[in-house]
Amino acid sequence: MKAAVFKEKGLLAVEEIPTPEPGTGEVLCRIKYCGICGTDLHNYYFGIPVSGSILGHEWCGVITRLGEGVEDFSVGERVMRYKHPWVPPVPPEERIDPRNIRINPRAIYSAPSRRGAYAECITAPTTRLIRVPDEISDQAAACLEPLVAAIHAVRLGNPKVSDTIAFIGAGPIALYMIQRVRQAGARAVYVSEISPARAAKAAELGADRVFNPLKEDFISEIVKLTGGRGPDIVYECAAAKNTLNQACQLVARNGRITCLAVYQEPIMLEPLDWYMMQPEIKFTTNGDSTPFDWEIATEILRQRSIDIETVITNVIPLSDIQETFQALLKPATNNMLRVLVAP
Ligand SMILES: [Zn+2]
Repeated sequence: MKAAVFKEKGLLAVEEIPTPEPGTGEVLCRIKYCGICGTDLHNYYFGIPVSGSILGHEWCGVITRLGEGVEDFSVGERVMRYKHPWVPPVPPEERIDPRNIRINPRAIYSAPSRRGAYAECITAPTTRLIRVPDEISDQAAACLEPLVAAIHAVRLGNPKVSDTIAFIGAGPIALYMIQRVRQAGARAVYVSEISPARAAKAAELGADRVFNPLKEDFISEIVKLTGGRGPDIVYECAAAKNTLNQACQLVARNGRITCLAVYQEPIMLEPLDWYMMQPEIKFTTNGDSTPFDWEIATEILRQRSIDIETVITNVIPLSDIQETFQALLKPATNNMLRVLVAP
């Protein structure tokens, strides 16, 4: 089968590799779509995975073969990936214990066993799969995981009716979150985003004002728009060097910051500017989502209560993956939002 193999920092190569055999309790799936996740982009850019790994974890496919002992799934069924880190068979070093054991994400991303879905086929244990309900399209099914991230982060920020909410960064996950906080009764939604395509989509999906942080002093503007208070909640979704500091400068006194940006490098903070505002900061990644978040996200996909497809702008063949990754690293100069690979 063909797969995009991670070779080194900044390089994926499409190669012919042996199709994997499903082991006991596993199935072989033909990948229909695999979404390009920001985590994959970071891992690629910073050279974190082991050479020879295959990235890609946001996928939907069709079962083509059953491994030994599989009785609850059959060939031809559509499945999407459920990765809940509390649920075996996640290896112990990758497992998040609900009793709050410490976990090191670097250990997960550099695990040598990673065989992802930028490939024609993948094997997966059936405990890590969900059948795709008929109401959910293949493309939407490949967006389950980023939707879970969005749902989890929104809930962690604990938005209340009539809260004012700001987003720093409006990538695909934030574009789902904007729709969700609107449904939750946000009084106003403000966004800071450098990419014109993302900015336009944020406005279309319910943001009241979208600022370009390279051209406008969005902090002063939003503070003015909120009567001098600042927004009740800031969602930090950008992961640039100064964006968490911006979130702290922006948020209302005693306000809440939920940071779902994953920083791969040290960042800049200037607490003297804001620490007397007493912000509450919570950090999250999809790794700390709960099974309930996955249930809600699946329900949202079924009911189509969040527009998933509107954020999908490109479907590319596997052969375009290297140039697409390069383009996605420059969000200010491309028109792509969520990109799906169709291997
Ligand atoms: Zn992801």
